[in-house]
Amino acid sequence: MPNSHAPIVRTLSNRTSLSLTRTSLFKLMALLAGVFAAVVYSLVYLAYDMDRTEQAESAFHARKAMQSLDKSLRLTVKDYAFWSDAYKHLHVQVDTDWAYVRENVGPTLFQDFGFQGLFVVNDVNRTVYAVVEGKLQPLELSSWLGQSIDPIIEQARAGAASETPVTSFINVRGSPALVAAAAITPGTDPTVLPDGRRPSVLIFVDILDSAKLDAIGNDFGVANLHIASSEEIGKSLLPLGDNGAAGSLYWEPERPGLKLVGVGLPLLGLAALLVCAMTWMILRRSTASALALDASHASLQSSQAALATSEARFRDVVEASSDWVWEIDATWHFTYLSERFESVTGLARQAWMGAAMNDLLDTDVGHLSQWLATPGRRPDLSVQCRYVDAQGQARSTRLSAREMPCGGFRGTATDVTDEVEARRRIEYLSQHDALTGLPNRTRLQAFLNSKLQAASPLAQPLVMLTLDLDRFKPVNDLLGHAAGDRVLNVVSNRLVDCVRHGDLVARVGGDEFVLILTDTGTQDDVEKLCQRLIASIEGAIGIDEQEVFISASIGIALAPNDASDAAELLRYADIALYEAKSAGRNTWRFYSADMNARIIERRRLESDLRFAIKHGELRLHFQPRYRIADGEMVGAEALVRWQHPVRGLIAPDTFIPIAEESGLILSLSDWVMETACACAAQWPAPLFVSVNLSPSEFKRGNMVARVSQALGTSGIDPSRLELEITEGVMLEDAEGALAIMHTLKALGIRIAMDDFGTGYSSLSYLRAFPFDGLKIDRSFLSRLEDSDDDKAIIQAIVGLGRALSLTVTAEGIETAEHLDLLKAVACDEGQGYFLSRPLDRDTFNQLLVR
Ligand code: C2E
Ligand code: CA
Ligand code: CA
Repeated sequence: MPNSHAPIVRTLSNRTSLSLTRTSLFKLMALLAGVFAAVVYSLVYLAYDMDRTEQAESAFHARKAMQSLDKSLRLTVKDYAFWSDAYKHLHVQVDTDWAYVRENVGPTLFQDFGFQGLFVVNDVNRTVYAVVEGKLQPLELSSWLGQSIDPIIEQARAGAASETPVTSFINVRGSPALVAAAAITPGTDPTVLPDGRRPSVLIFVDILDSAKLDAIGNDFGVANLHIASSEEIGKSLLPLGDNGAAGSLYWEPERPGLKLVGVGLPLLGLAALLVCAMTWMILRRSTASALALDASHASLQSSQAALATSEARFRDVVEASSDWVWEIDATWHFTYLSERFESVTGLARQAWMGAAMNDLLDTDVGHLSQWLATPGRRPDLSVQCRYVDAQGQARSTRLSAREMPCGGFRGTATDVTDEVEARRRIEYLSQHDALTGLPNRTRLQAFLNSKLQAASPLAQPLVMLTLDLDRFKPVNDLLGHAAGDRVLNVVSNRLVDCVRHGDLVARVGGDEFVLILTDTGTQDDVEKLCQRLIASIEGAIGIDEQEVFISASIGIALAPNDASDAAELLRYADIALYEAKSAGRNTWRFYSADMNARIIERRRLESDLRFAIKHGELRLHFQPRYRIADGEMVGAEALVRWQHPVRGLIAPDTFIPIAEESGLILSLSDWVMETACACAAQWPAPLFVSVNLSPSEFKRGNMVARVSQALGTSGIDPSRLELEITEGVMLEDAEGALAIMHTLKALGIRIAMDDFGTGYSSLSYLRAFPFDGLKIDRSFLSRLEDSDDDKAIIQAIVGLGRALSLTVTAEGIETAEHLDLLKAVACDEGQGYFLSRPLDRDTFNQLLVR
């Protein structure tokens, strides 16, 4: 019996196992469908998220690009506008020679920075200087722009006191353009007084054409940045100006998510189909076969195999992207690293599996694990990390992370080393001077602010040195800008070599530097450093075959002693620098409160002098000049004095330098020349009058017209006028001086070289320039007692004068011995207290009638 039952039992058991297999297969199918749906959903979500992040980032970068453009234009216009030289040459008087020909504010702004428009408008908003695409043009700003920007100009004027420039995007002929405007002010120069007019305004216009936008976009990693066309308006874009009035920018952000879906979805679909097909086959076979259980086993295995295939495909997708994928467990140890990890980092996957994540990656915000565990952390925000690759190079990566339901995290890591490097570079460039690589004014400001804020009363004092090169301008003018640039580079290196690590050397203007010393000892140490700085700058600089020599003056201010505010400290150091320069250059001065007082005093004298010239407070004294051989008077030197209502009679040494610096020298000298000629016209012929000229008058043009004017009004014979000039005239601009001297000579007047022997190149000038006479500086006679050398020198000068057919005059004859010596060496003419002091006009006239 048991035998007859056996098949029934078997069939039954097969049936139950069949239905069992079927239900489990259906369950499995449902499970698989669920898994697929979840994977598809995650994939689509991930892709959408990636695209959104990419779009947000590209918009961020595009905005950043515009901000950086704005910032750099703002800084540039600021550098040019808050500058005393610009004030003098573009506001007080528009000097196109200085601005355009000498390229101080000229074509280089187009060539180097690409600013198409460069304008200066005066106090009533009329354009007085325009450089368009590097060319000087007689254009009106508003007509070139096709619109008026008076509100921007007024806003710039309002920012004059705080030295704040204005920028704005406008639309110029269909293209967006960035306009930067700043009022032209004397900057920190304490010697330039504002003239009372509303400030002129300097305007730069940077038109963003497609080439420029493309280049900017590339720099900031925004591909194909361009002006939005009409179809593109409304899509991904960045409006410029008020509500996009200046135009809108458009670019096509990359769609990494779309790519991922493009590859991932078909693969997943294929995997799903395969699994379905397999399950269907298994089901069919299970009804046909009694060995359903075995079959169901097989089917389970094959669906596992299918799952493995789909996993492999998913892995392929992961590996196709340039990012690497990671997973960590709840203890922050890597449990998975995609193959990409190796090719990106160069590190071995096997070695890092199981290692702590914090050992590989480092962030600015503390441990990565802390960041991951931050409560409420937004999963769509990424964090930037650093790690060291297989070559030992530091690299940057951006990490995004999601928490896994079973604990731990997974995410992607995108290599952003190039991007970080590019940003670092941009940051560096905005803080450093392009020519010398030294920190610029922006960096200096930041450095100072950080140090001054950190300075507690107990901290070491901060020493600020402002250093200005002496004799640098002639190098630029005579040897050209390339040579000037090389000199600046050499000087920068020498300065850096003189200071310690941790100190700052910044270049803040053409030939101006600021040094900040943070760890200095005594005043003595600072003085020693100044000595070293000057000595090292004075070393010869080889330019081609020539050797160039320059020097420097230094002003020093101390924090917190003198001031604890950056701007104030700079101003004080500048004042000290100004004192150092006045003290004969090539030296240094510490700031002291009385310097400020002296500068105020000087300004007062300057405004008093302006008044004095107009209101007849100047006087002329005359010092007779005699022929040494027979004691006959041959003429007289006109020497100016100032009859000040309060201070009494002021000597020229006090006010001539002020007149020279303030530009008052022209009107002062006009008065001297006119008065001297008018007086001499009353003297018996052939007595001549000798008039002193300042070097600064020579370069300020119309010398010849001014002299002819004086000759014409007085009616004096030109041969009775002599002009005394010093070698300073030739030092500043030898070629120009030579041309002017020839024209002056053509008028019939005489020219003498004054103070001969005090400079270092008088001799060479004497040969090359059309002089009629030379005046030996009085220092030679005054030293006569101490040195026999001077006697020999005087003799040699007289001999030289004879050889060059020049009339030699000795100045400063104070004793009978001086006169005897000059007689012995057959010097032509002489003047000095022993013969006659300078006399006022009436006394001098009495001398004539006697
Ligand atoms: P300088 O051209 O060398 O003028 C000669 C100076 O020597 C005058 O000083 C004169 O008073 C002084 N002096 C004359 N004889 C003797 C003497 O025997 N011993 C001594 N120790 N000094 C003597 P002053 O008038 O004070 O003029 C100083 C300087 O001011 C002049 O030097 C000249 O460079 C400048 N200066 C004077 N008037 C004018 C002017 O109208 N225009 C310009 N640009 N400079 C002027
Ligand atoms: Ca003189
Ligand atoms: Ca002299």
